[in-house]
Amino acid sequence: MEYVIGVDSGGTHIVAQALSQDGKIMEQSESGPGNILLNPEQTIQNLKDVIESLFLKQKRIDCKYILIGIAGIETTGNSSEISQLLTDYFKVTTYVISDAKLALLNGLEGKDGTLIISGTGSVVYGRQNKEMLRYGGWGNLLGDTGSAYKIVSASMQLILKKHDLGFISSLEDILLNLLNASDVKEGVKNFYQLDRKQVASIAVTIAKAADKGNLDAITIIKEQAMALSKEALGLISRYQKPYPSKIAFSGSVLLNNDLFQKTLLNNLLSWYPNLQSITVSTNNSRGAIFWPIWNN
Ligand code: BGC
Repeated sequence: MEYVIGVDSGGTHIVAQALSQDGKIMEQSESGPGNILLNPEQTIQNLKDVIESLFLKQKRIDCKYILIGIAGIETTGNSSEISQLLTDYFKVTTYVISDAKLALLNGLEGKDGTLIISGTGSVVYGRQNKEMLRYGGWGNLLGDTGSAYKIVSASMQLILKKHDLGFISSLEDILLNLLNASDVKEGVKNFYQLDRKQVASIAVTIAKAADKGNLDAITIIKEQAMALSKEALGLISRYQKPYPSKIAFSGSVLLNNDLFQKTLLNNLLSWYPNLQSITVSTNNSRGAIFWPIWNN
């Protein structure tokens, strides 16, 4: 039976799926991390491994094409080179785009509109009349507004600011505990030992604290959601009129955090009341089945 392969290669996780033409998952394989800007060699190796493991179970000859969405690829700018390298390696036509484009394809099933991802990293992407627009997503040090990474670093900054003013943030105990630290200085020392993925994983605790009414956690979640919604507004303002009304959400922060999602959406709707929100599943590999729509 003919099938396609879709691969979502994100900041911490890679999910590869063999999909029937109506989008049913025939086989799945996982690995990570998959951001090519931060881990170039490892990402390529991980991609080879996850896809080869699908070929152990499905006939290579029945695979029509492979579509891979890779975080960081727009910054490294070598998607055609990687497409060629992987096409030669797998002996199957392989297309490489950004993870955000794959999420946009999946979320809007090939139609025009806007996609906001907030997971480990963040980015806003739009498509109108075959033209692609992008806002943000420049990685954890230079961008990624409203991402898990930024929620955590902004929380640490708030704790430190309050500490320097002689106050104690309502997040201090929670974060010092997670960082295995007995005071703020040890907290900072331990924070600098963490990698990007470990920092991002702390965001879940901050979101839970916000749900329980922790005031500083609420402030951070709202500020980050507002900042990301402003990036989305920036992108929407660049559309030609009439703007495409569909909008899709993706990523662990946006999909699992009510306060974040509501704050962001309400701000968008206050400027663009006709936007229709669609929540995307985390299964962005499925975007591969809509690839022919964009190529027509
Ligand atoms: C990366 C982008 C990616 C975004 C969402 C950012 O850190 O730089 O390429 O699209 O995260 O995963």
